Order: sequence, then structure tokens, then C-alpha cells
Amino acid sequence: MTRPLYQAKADFFKTLGHPARIRVLELLSEREHAVGEMLPEVGVEATSLSQQLAVLRRAGLVVSRKEGSTVYYTPPGPNVKGRSGSIQLRHVDAGSCNGCEIEIGSAFGPVYDGERYGARLVASPRHADALLVTGPVTRNMAEPLRRTFEALPEPRIVVAVGDCARNCGEFAGAYGVEGPVGAVVPVDVEVPGCPPEPAAIIAALRGLTGR
Ligand code: SF4
Repeated sequence: MTRPLYQAKADFFKTLGHPARIRVLELLSEREHAVGEMLPEVGVEATSLSQQLAVLRRAGLVVSRKEGSTVYYTPPGPNVKGRSGSIQLRHVDAGSCNGCEIEIGSAFGPVYDGERYGARLVASPRHADALLVTGPVTRNMAEPLRRTFEALPEPRIVVAVGDCARNCGEFAGAYGVEGPVGAVVPVDVEVPGCPPEPAAIIAALRGLTGR
């Protein structure tokens, strides 16, 4: 039976209606944060912050990843629920130096094993839910990238991997560069780094699969 709207609204406000949770969501809307970074901003005890984060995690409003002994929190990617725990990705190299490709290769290798979180690389955009785009977009690749994006079934998700994809990075201002990925197709998720570590790529993909 479908849950009545009034109950859904009550649950929503119950989850959000705490000043600490609202502040956490504000901080995470800017960027990924570790618990230690959030503590002075949120102004509560560490135990209380952990409890609030647990509530938000259970409600699917934040996801976490562990790096060494530090836990980082971030909002889930778009359409997490719609992806039902898995996502098919078509990779497009729009002009990368190949550094980002090496890290993507590692993210799907035996150590990081992205497939165990439901992320899988596929050969055709028509079989994909999302694009994994690397590099600044060169003039030659702008139109192929647009066409590949249009070949994706709705809803189309774009993940910009690496600083070049986000803001042209090392290649900003180069004569053959059209612009960052966001100047050609709408970007939903960005993975910073030059190149980003496989763990960061996996964290972004987990945000999409919700696993
Ligand atoms: S972000 Fe760094 S590694 Fe990735 S394509 Fe640009 S220069 Fe190469």
C-alpha cells in the first residue's frame, strides 16, 4: 500500500528538523567533509554528530566512505533510488592525458573492484545510465561527446572525472580546448584530483549506486 502524503511529509521533517542535521546538509552541499571538519561548524559533541549522521544516512540523505581511519560524508548522487543499486557507465575520453584512465582502470581492477558496488563499464552509450568523462573537452571531441550524451537513455547522468574535466585543469586556455565537460553537457557529479585516486572514483560511483 502507498504511504499517505501527510506521513511522507511528517517523516521528511522528522529527519531534517534538527538544527545539527540541517547544518550538516548545508556543509555537505558545498563539498565532502570528514567528521572532524564538521564538528566546529556544527557545534555539537562528537557523539551527537555521529548520531545525527547515522539518522541522515539511514534516510538516504548522506553517504559515507572510509579512507584510512577517516570517514568522509557526502550527499548521494542524483537518482540513487532510481538506479536500484547498480549503474552502467560509458567512458568517454574527451581529451585526457590518460592519467585519469589509468586510475579508472584501477578503480575497476581487482583491488578496488568497482563492480562489487554495482558500477559496470559498458561499450555503448545506449546500454549505459551514465557517462564517465575525462579530460578537458577538445574541439574535436565536443560534438562526439554531445552525441554520446544524446544516445544515453533518460535520465542521463554525467560524471566528470579529474580536474581537467571539471575546469580544464592543466590544459586551461590551450588552443585546442573547447572547455570543461560542463560547458558541453550537464554535469551531475564531479570527482576532483589530477588524477583522482581510485578510491575517490569509487566513492562517487557508490554515491550513484547507493551501495
Ligand atoms: S586531470 Fe590530470 S591526470 Fe586527468 S586528464 Fe587532466 S592532467 Fe591528466
